[in-house]
Amino acid sequence: MNLKESQIIKVAIDVPVDDLFDYRCSDQVDIGQFVVVPFGSRKLIGIVVEVDVNTTLPLNKIKEVIRVDEESLFNTELFKLFRFVASYYQYPIGQTIHTAVPSRIKQGVTRGKKKNYIFHASNNLSHEVIHGFPKNQKNLIRIATQLLSQPMTETALKKMSNWKKHIEHLINHDLATQVEITPEAPQHSAPLILNSEQSNIVEQIKKTKGFEAFLIHGITGSGKTEVYMHLIDSLIKNEGQVLVMVPEINLTPQLEDRFQSRFHTKKIVSLHSHLSQPDRLENWRLAKSGEAQIVIGTRLSVFTPFKNLTAILMDEEHDMSFKQQDNLRYHARDVGMMRAKLLNIPFIAGSATPSMEIWHRAVNEKKLKLLSLTKRANEDATLPRVDLIKTGQDLDEPLSTYLKDAIQHRLDQQQQVLIFINRRGFAPVLFCSSCGWQADCNRCSSKLVVHKNKQQLRCHHCDYQRTIDSSCQECGNVDLMTLGKGTQKIEEQLARLFPSARIKRVDRDTIKNKKDLDQLYADMHDHKLDILVGTQMLSKGHDFPQLTLVGILDADHALYSSDFRASERLFSQLVQVAGRSGRASIKGEVVIETNFPEHPLYKKIQSQDFNGFAKEELQLRKELHFPPFVMQAMLKTESKNKKYLEEFVTQCFQFMSNLPSKVTCFPPVRPYLERLQGFERSHIYMQSNNRTELNHFLSQLRSFISAMKISSRVKWVIDVDPVDF
Ligand code: ADP
Ligand code: ZN
Ligand code: ZN
Repeated sequence: MNLKESQIIKVAIDVPVDDLFDYRCSDQVDIGQFVVVPFGSRKLIGIVVEVDVNTTLPLNKIKEVIRVDEESLFNTELFKLFRFVASYYQYPIGQTIHTAVPSRIKQGVTRGKKKNYIFHASNNLSHEVIHGFPKNQKNLIRIATQLLSQPMTETALKKMSNWKKHIEHLINHDLATQVEITPEAPQHSAPLILNSEQSNIVEQIKKTKGFEAFLIHGITGSGKTEVYMHLIDSLIKNEGQVLVMVPEINLTPQLEDRFQSRFHTKKIVSLHSHLSQPDRLENWRLAKSGEAQIVIGTRLSVFTPFKNLTAILMDEEHDMSFKQQDNLRYHARDVGMMRAKLLNIPFIAGSATPSMEIWHRAVNEKKLKLLSLTKRANEDATLPRVDLIKTGQDLDEPLSTYLKDAIQHRLDQQQQVLIFINRRGFAPVLFCSSCGWQADCNRCSSKLVVHKNKQQLRCHHCDYQRTIDSSCQECGNVDLMTLGKGTQKIEEQLARLFPSARIKRVDRDTIKNKKDLDQLYADMHDHKLDILVGTQMLSKGHDFPQLTLVGILDADHALYSSDFRASERLFSQLVQVAGRSGRASIKGEVVIETNFPEHPLYKKIQSQDFNGFAKEELQLRKELHFPPFVMQAMLKTESKNKKYLEEFVTQCFQFMSNLPSKVTCFPPVRPYLERLQGFERSHIYMQSNNRTELNHFLSQLRSFISAMKISSRVKWVIDVDPVDF
């Protein structure tokens, strides 16, 4: 073979190695294309990152690419982003790039969604023509005859064997035509006339040229979505595209419908984990080709290739699901902002309860422009009144008399009620009152949750499940008790108290897909339901005009959490849930049951004063040296073997303590869940005032660990800007 004719290319491969790999390639190839390469004894998919490079390796050591695919996946803009992300999050470049490759392509399948067609007879087809068909072609004759009377879909055709061959024959002979079926455009809903706060925001953002970051802080129901839509309208002129990032799970279907009816002639696609792989690949390609002008996606969509991206929007910025919790632990907000900067386009985040990180950057550091919506957009709607009520002390009566009366009152007025309790199942603990035994998970350091309707105990951390014990495993006592409450227990209680009310439980056990969720919205809007009982699934984005009372149960545990973000989360969650109440003209009410009605955090939630909360919270974080005033990183480790784990973290900590650096390291600690899915866990925290220094420190740590013998026996990961502990 003539080595001169081929060039050397650098390829990203999905392996935990920091470098790109050199290959020879004699075909025409460009940056971003994907290739199949030999790797050891395997064949792997790689992404071409550089072409025509010089190599330091001897030419005969460099292997030849097996195959070059036509499709180019990424452009140079995205490679810049990948390099930034790999370095910031301390993750191998090959694996970083592969995170962004649609899984279907990774599996080597490049086929996207199958298109749906309807088949028509052409003018050339007639009974005479059909008479001329060979008599033994029964199905061909049947298909042609039916087409003459009416068009046929694939579903109708599938009833006949070999239909594909026959249809192809008819089409090839100009006797039939096929037309792609596209979903009907929904009814157009006209833009609303913005109020002055809204239009002020739209004007300010529209004025920007190039990169600028904005934070829209708008109370619940203040019309943020309407603002986004007005912005999008101007951003997609001249073939522009926008990316709208939304939290995982429930927001997508409703929001998508709302966008589709506003922009009913535009192509809008979504990208999230509930799509089938072919659909996801198809939508990803529509974004890449520029056909889809509006892309609504969850965190991973931040890496989607676009032809002409003009802005990145992020709704519900505070949502935890924007941070990936395994492998490449990126935060879509920070990556999104970086991408907007690289592309020189605006970045716009919105929330009723922004994260302390973004708030600090906007208010104190002025890195984002803060824009506020202070009133509910619907003129008749106001924020609900919030009452703090002492929790009832009777264990068998989970609801206070006050809340019971309030529910009865709303039901009497034909209004709807939402009861929020952020724990699914019946009760979180099964307990023996004679010896104190509790049912634990064997694989995690956690209690098993009682699921009464399935008569099961389940671990919510590892999905272990078994039948409920009929007696105590320690002393044989058959009188076991359940402690605490979950959605099932509250549902049971409400059914007893309000026998004629139509009650629906909403949690991961009852809502499994978009269909369930759509049904729930429809039933709420048609007033086929009176009371919803559910978890945080209910805290987001829903607009139910007849919902006027929200009851919040059992939220106190956040007050004694060791996580410094617990108050921020509680504030945000309760304000979001409370915001579901009174979105139309009837004044809403929120009842929070707590053992600490005087607690300052609840007082702030009561007044729904985000600015006041944020000011004090940030002051506290500053005094205690917590983010956003310092930068944090964590070395998270786990192993089935406790001895290896301890040896590993001890060596790591020793190395870190001896590194000459201003990064502060804290001795290894066991996290709240010491054992998870059979793995013992240990964490080492680091913090610094300087991002570059922290980054440098982490890469030294990473090289050290990679060279350790024991590191193969321990699972480890570096989490930069961690949010769960
Ligand atoms: P947010 O996203 O801030 O929670 P939404 O955009 O969902 O708020 O708006 C809340 C409600 O107010 C929706 O029913 C919406 O149709 C309505 N709304 C928004 N803007 C206006 C406006 N300018 N005039 C009238 N109604 C509006
Ligand atoms: Zn016992
Ligand atoms: Zn478990």
